[in-house]
Amino acid sequence: MKSTYKALEVSAPGNLRLVERSVPEPGAGQVRIRVEACGICHTDAATVTGIYPGLKLPRVPGHEVVGRIEALGNGVSKWKIGQRVGVGLIGGEDGVCEPCRRGDIVNCQNPVVLGVTVDGGYAEVMIAEARGIASIPDELSSAEAAPLLCAGITTYNALRNAGLRGGDLVAVQGIGGLGHLGVQFARHMGFHTVAIGRGREKEKLANDLGAHVYIDAAVDDAWCDGATGVWSCGPRQADRGGCAGGPDPIKCVPARLWRALDLREPDRHAD
Ligand SMILES: [Zn+2]
Ligand SMILES: [Zn+2]
Repeated sequence: MKSTYKALEVSAPGNLRLVERSVPEPGAGQVRIRVEACGICHTDAATVTGIYPGLKLPRVPGHEVVGRIEALGNGVSKWKIGQRVGVGLIGGEDGVCEPCRRGDIVNCQNPVVLGVTVDGGYAEVMIAEARGIASIPDELSSAEAAPLLCAGITTYNALRNAGLRGGDLVAVQGIGGLGHLGVQFARHMGFHTVAIGRGREKEKLANDLGAHVYIDAAVDDAWCDGATGVWSCGPRQADRGGCAGGPDPIKCVPARLWRALDLREPDRHAD
């Protein structure tokens, strides 16, 4: 095996360059991954421009990483060489801070952060904490799986922790890197799924991904009642002349959404 690997490293703010480095050995509790795919997330720009809090350069960005384990550090027993795994932005909790001790490890106060506190996946090889990796099922290619490690987790966890039930209304604002996954999760989780984009060019994609309704926010304000031209709390409120002073984020219903889906005005809006 080659003793060096290629990586894209941020050497100074705004300077992303290709470098050749010595292949590192994993420390205790770590694994070395041969990277097969790494997604590109907008957060990577905060590493490249040098503005991410706590960032020290040089640093390799990339936190949507899928690859195969090729070396195990001391004390790693759960994982095997050759196993395909993924790593996301939070690559390991410290296990001792107050949120960690409450089981809230996603809010760890001293986490391992890929592309910020440690090098990430814009490279042929990376070192990962064994406690921070996830196995990748064979049905998914590495390129398909990689974006799930950040954009996918973000949208999936938002939906499954939102207290929704099957049949509820979900609107996904923006059909981009996160939104195109959110639409698919929402549809497959059984929600009435509305995609909101700007322009018509995302309409076919949104429909192909499973959206029941597409709203083009460039021509159609999803929050504004087009018939009366006023902010609306649903048909009943619109009959009274709508809301003065703009929408109430808690009480207002995007009137067009309800009409598009032919849903009843919910009781909590009948004030
Ligand atoms: Zn990300
Ligand atoms: Zn912690």
